[in-house]
Amino acid sequence: MEGADGQVSFEIDDLPVRDELRGKSPYGAPQLDVPVRLNTNENPYPLPEPLVERIAERVREAARNLNRYPDRDAVELRTGLARYLTKSSGYPVGVDNVWAANGSNEVIQQLLQTFGGPGRTAIGFEPSYSMHTLIARSTGTGWISGPRAEDFTIDLPAAEKAIAEHRPDVVFVTTPNNPTGNTVPAETVLALYEAAQAAKPSMVIVDEAYVEFSHGASLLPLLDGRPHLVVSRTMSKAFGAAGLRLGYLAAHPAVVDAVQLVRLPYHLSAVTQATALAALEHTDTLLGYVEQLKSERDRLVAELRATGYEVTESDANFIQFGRFEDSHTAWQRILDRGVLVRDNGVPGWLRVTAGTPAENDAFLDAVRELKKEQEQST
Ligand SMILES: *Cc1c(COP(=O)(O)O)cnc(C)c1O
Repeated sequence: MEGADGQVSFEIDDLPVRDELRGKSPYGAPQLDVPVRLNTNENPYPLPEPLVERIAERVREAARNLNRYPDRDAVELRTGLARYLTKSSGYPVGVDNVWAANGSNEVIQQLLQTFGGPGRTAIGFEPSYSMHTLIARSTGTGWISGPRAEDFTIDLPAAEKAIAEHRPDVVFVTTPNNPTGNTVPAETVLALYEAAQAAKPSMVIVDEAYVEFSHGASLLPLLDGRPHLVVSRTMSKAFGAAGLRLGYLAAHPAVVDAVQLVRLPYHLSAVTQATALAALEHTDTLLGYVEQLKSERDRLVAELRATGYEVTESDANFIQFGRFEDSHTAWQRILDRGVLVRDNGVPGWLRVTAGTPAENDAFLDAVRELKKEQEQST
């Protein structure tokens, strides 16, 4: 077929792509150029200048050796991450318990390449982080959409039943959950772990991308005596370094050995390792913003409720709010006022990331106007 420009029109589906990729579109929150962007749960504060300097120093050092491949096992970085986990949780984590990759998305991909794959399945309790589903698809792992209660908590009996019935190879638990914001209690995670062991046994991946924002403690201590449990973490959210692309996991050393069977050699560049090490040196400063963001989150929750919106209990740096008859139209109305929030495809609900106080004020003005508009039209 020839298009208007004389080019033969030829699209993805004209290529011999794998069946499961046919007719699909790539993941992506819109990256729109608007004044207030509160749609991807990033930390709104740029890195402090002393850290920028330290990164430049470390990267300069690394640059002198870029003729060589990086440390394939990223030992210095994993040691630093283990130290951070130990210090923040009180649970002793060693370098042998930690693995790092380019964002926790790559960590999850490596886990599914290792424990999922063709002929195997993974379950998540939806709505939850859509990348779990997409990475399952791209690794050929079958996806099972597990249930959640009306209030977006995990309905334990229903979840246990789904695990017993489907006997998945991998169970995802996101806590605090994205996009709903609520924490999963440790007892629930333990019960799901037991159910998964009785059914298969399978691997349970606890995605703690937002744990630094939560009231509760990390589930790291649950790793003790549970070699089928994995806790995944990221520097993209609380550490304020989404652009760095650094995710990591903590688990039994056997899990760390297992993912090395699928990781590409030298997957973590010397520049990434140097930058992440510099960021770890400034952990206290970076996490200093967490308290501010938590109080802004709590302010947003209070103001949204006062304006007449419903809000899901949030333990993260974002809030799910609603309800809307048509969430996509509401999303557009808020965008028309210069504020980008996220439509995660949960009917009736949208998600907003806690930004700077000024950004949050702009968001609150927009949703107050939207409320008035809706009240006038009914
Ligand atoms: C943002 C997010 C991640 C982080 O992914 P990175 O690849 O580390 O940026 C992981 N899990 C959840 C649930 C998230 O929301």
